[in-house]
Amino acid sequence: MIEKISHIGIAVHNLEEQMSYYQNVLGLPFLGTEEVTDQKVKVAMFGVGNVRIELLEPTAEDSPIAKFLEKKGSGVHHIAYEVDNIEKTIDTFQKNSLKMIDTSPRPGASGTKIAFAHPKSTFGVLTELCQEESENLENRKDD
Ligand code: ZN
Repeated sequence: MIEKISHIGIAVHNLEEQMSYYQNVLGLPFLGTEEVTDQKVKVAMFGVGNVRIELLEPTAEDSPIAKFLEKKGSGVHHIAYEVDNIEKTIDTFQKNSLKMIDTSPRPGASGTKIAFAHPKSTFGVLTELCQEESENLENRKDD
């Protein structure tokens, strides 16, 4: 089940260059930076309400973000929906004949499990499914 947007991913050439806009002009709280080796990106996170803005800078030429920047330049890269059961949601996507880039979850930033759906299946919007580990544990109490 999808309850909220987890974060919006924005591809950038240079984190430092854009961070001041989010921090000083928009005044969003800075939540930290992290390197996600699996995706070959460095991430800077900002909070807005309970949604995060994630700036993504490639750390290698073969990073998916490097390829995106080359084709489209900096800008909105993906929207991530928070799901409570990522395996089940992947299954639902596949049952609806949507193509998944990740057919099984892989590690994302902040200890999350993530999977991308192919933008050709989601009307041009690169869609990430994101399951927060800690929240998942909290939710189990209520079951
Ligand atoms: Zn993301």
